[in-house]
Amino acid sequence: MPTVHNWQIGRDMSYPHEERHPERQFAFVFNLNRCIGCQTCTMSCKSTWTFSKGQELMWWNNVESKPFGGYPQHWDAKILALLEEANPGGQVWSTAGAGSDNGSDDAPYGRFDGMTVFEAADKKPRPDGPQQALGYLPTDDEWRHPNIHEDTATGSHFKKEGQYGGSTELPEHKVWFFHLARICNHCTYPACLASCPRNAIYKRPEDGIVLIDQSRCRGYRKCVEGCPYKKAMYRPETRTSEKCIGCFPRIEGKDKSASPTGAPAETRCMAACVGKIRMQGLVGIEEDGTWTPDPKNPLYFMIRERKIALPLYPQFGTEPNGFYIPPRWVPRNYLVQRFGPGVEDAIEQYSCPDRELLAVLQLFRGGQQIIFRYEIEQGEKVAEVEVTMPDGTTKTQEIFNDTVLGFNKFDEEFIRITVEEPTFERPAEMHVNSI
Ligand code: SF4
Ligand code: SF4
Repeated sequence: MPTVHNWQIGRDMSYPHEERHPERQFAFVFNLNRCIGCQTCTMSCKSTWTFSKGQELMWWNNVESKPFGGYPQHWDAKILALLEEANPGGQVWSTAGAGSDNGSDDAPYGRFDGMTVFEAADKKPRPDGPQQALGYLPTDDEWRHPNIHEDTATGSHFKKEGQYGGSTELPEHKVWFFHLARICNHCTYPACLASCPRNAIYKRPEDGIVLIDQSRCRGYRKCVEGCPYKKAMYRPETRTSEKCIGCFPRIEGKDKSASPTGAPAETRCMAACVGKIRMQGLVGIEEDGTWTPDPKNPLYFMIRERKIALPLYPQFGTEPNGFYIPPRWVPRNYLVQRFGPGVEDAIEQYSCPDRELLAVLQLFRGGQQIIFRYEIEQGEKVAEVEVTMPDGTTKTQEIFNDTVLGFNKFDEEFIRITVEEPTFERPAEMHVNSI
């Protein structure tokens, strides 16, 4: 099996296909501290792409309440259990060289010494051929409840016996849940693609979006079995598998309502996000798979430079291109299992963002087009606040009313937003609609 390099696990790994990379890669950052679980993203996707026969239980975008919810049910617990069974006690990271692999940014979270889904695949002869990626087929029942256990918390409500209030103290709440919004990660090394015996799945060279060619698909469901995130889905009506298509017409600039000059626009689920948790973009990729240094691209800045946004289950080995700012109230061991060893550093930065990071965080949902570059115009200092850090120490955060500007692919400015939200006072006269 060929060997490819996976920067998220800090090492080479085996993958069924030769290394090849797109010019740019579709990627996104979700800030989980802000998701309110309103499902607007879910419905915007559903009403655009999956409202037809056979797609009733198909949710390309879903938002699940963690730790109990999941779509399909138990998807993460099941794949984690399979990996543990394949490599008992060995699914661990070594973080000694994190962020400084020979001076490069090659192993930003350290090195994962366990097995990826490709390395743990069951190569024994099976009636349906050997596996290319360790996986399983969810049952019909598991696909049936996309928002099961909505808003259900875990933990004890009592700090001490008879004393209410143990639930709301940072750095970790005793009673907690959070909303995990998910779409296909348009992985660099897709397990769905690796698993398809028909070569029906491909990655677009221009933007790295992963698509299933409906004319080649025969509905064997090997992609459904192989995707560790369970983001490839079977449609009985057509007997083919389908998945998120990254709203590629919008990425191609074809939605003139979102971008009148034909610049790439963000997907429907991103643009509709009420909580302003989502930012999607395109990052430059070199021939060898490394990200082209581009610190003024907000995604590059948050993911590669600051490492405040982390991949979902990097240990699976698919190099997902969805990244998450972890929720700061959730127990750390749970988050580290989910987002890797970079969690503590990401939460520390998010708890007290510096001047540049605070400005970049304002860009979320400032417009519908993809931001290729940002600029910051400095403003005056407006506040100084004491912040309690995750380790219990305090830090003084200086807040400046900077203005952040976002530019599209054609370097046209389309966002201009200040850190301090402007307020407007209504004149003291009678209004017919006053109550
Ligand atoms: S998340 Fe799953 S369906 Fe999407 S590209 Fe990765 S392996 Fe394929
Ligand atoms: S629209 Fe945004 S805030 Fe609402 S559930 Fe989706 S990701 Fe969360």
